[in-house]
Amino acid sequence: MNESKQDKLILLVEPDPVVASRLEDLFRGEGWVVEVRHDARRARQFLQNNKPHLVVLEPLLPDEHGLALVSELRKHPKWGFVPTLVLSEDLDPEARLRALKAGALDYMTKPYEREELLFRVRNLLQLAGGTTGADRSSRLSPEEKLLAGLLELGVRQLTPGVSRVSRYGYTVEEAFRLLDDAQPGEELDLLDELADRGKVNRQFYDVVHLCPKCGWHDLNFREVCPACESPNIKVQRMYRHVTCGYVGPRSAFSEAGRRCPRCGREVEPESLVSAGVRFHCNQCHNSFAEPIVVCRCLNCGELSDVDAVETRVIWTYQLRPAEEAEKPHKRVVEPSTLRPLLRGEAAVLSEHEILDKLEQALNEAIEKRQELSLIQIVIEGLGRLRVRVGEDKLRRLLVAAVSRLFRVLRATDSLGYYGASGFLLVLPATSLSEAKVIAERALVYLRQVLPGLFISIRLAGFPQDGRSVDELLEMLEVGIETVNAS
Ligand SMILES: [Zn+2]
Ligand SMILES: [Zn+2]
Ligand SMILES: [Zn+2]
Repeated sequence: MNESKQDKLILLVEPDPVVASRLEDLFRGEGWVVEVRHDARRARQFLQNNKPHLVVLEPLLPDEHGLALVSELRKHPKWGFVPTLVLSEDLDPEARLRALKAGALDYMTKPYEREELLFRVRNLLQLAGGTTGADRSSRLSPEEKLLAGLLELGVRQLTPGVSRVSRYGYTVEEAFRLLDDAQPGEELDLLDELADRGKVNRQFYDVVHLCPKCGWHDLNFREVCPACESPNIKVQRMYRHVTCGYVGPRSAFSEAGRRCPRCGREVEPESLVSAGVRFHCNQCHNSFAEPIVVCRCLNCGELSDVDAVETRVIWTYQLRPAEEAEKPHKRVVEPSTLRPLLRGEAAVLSEHEILDKLEQALNEAIEKRQELSLIQIVIEGLGRLRVRVGEDKLRRLLVAAVSRLFRVLRATDSLGYYGASGFLLVLPATSLSEAKVIAERALVYLRQVLPGLFISIRLAGFPQDGRSVDELLEMLEVGIETVNAS
């Protein structure tokens, strides 16, 4: 949005084309940019994608009463600071009051006096240039602004919808609508930022795959011929001739006149047994046991290895009313240095989320009289490794480490960032001895992908090591229970 004086944008909503063009000329003469719409529907369409500095509006519109639009502009946080001047031929003395009640900042009747109108418009444009409200809101970060807007609208739950135009293939409409100059999907990044800081809760919804080159979600995975990379392959069921051991597709026997192509004997149905499947390339006529899987980005055309494809978790979000969200978090949480590195990579809960999860799991364990185990993973030496291999490589190693960790977890377990450089695993309904087995497997995996780092694992179990979240975390700190990979 351009703030300079000569680029002031006025939306003129006026049903009468003659009046509209006269006003348009008047405003243009002052160097203002004017957009004219003749009904409420088109005005609303324009406002979807544009933020004018002033709306000049005749409420007597053909499709609906224009004051509805005025009050919408006031209520919606995105438009809260767009002033409206109602310029009406409605001479009813009550009309002025109705307009001001709806949220209009000024009211004039037609026929208007040119100098007076210009004077009032100039006043309102100045207001639009520097209201304290706009200043205050611009000092908020984009995600804070988004949260404020959503709470103002009374939104409590956000569920992503499928979107072809979002780079993630999903968008959260309610949130996206509140953003200026954003691409669909950017609102997901902002919501994740809020979740990372404990301002909203989130729950797993879906995983999408992103092109390693352009970051777009539209990927086509397919099996191709290992020799020529053609996708034009077919799978064939193979048969063995029991008499001589020859293996071929059924067609090889029928093309030879129901005789075996190798031994020439006539083939009886019972002398053929199934011998699994093979693939045949229609392009180069190669025959092979396993096709290779490649991934083509339908956005940029890049062909990449399946292992290079990035994943992004799509979440649903739960918002708390402002009073609750503003409450300081009870526990002081050390920010993780891993989270910024792994951002959006995997279903790892933030520092706040994992502690919330622990609290919840502990309450459940107490209620159901079940055991509960915690595994803390501390990784040391990441700083040195970063210097040695670079940020990108380090990130890839950590992504691999996390995906290994998920291999040992069960559906009810949770993994989150904990401490400056580590993770916390919450394992409901798990005894300490079961947890040790899981921890040993995790350690083996981690040492495979993160060689040269010092990785230590500590455990704590409910009820023997503590009966509250703080007691259990303290037990981890003390580090009495540890595992060593055998
Ligand atoms: Zn044969
Ligand atoms: Zn081929
Ligand atoms: Zn791409």
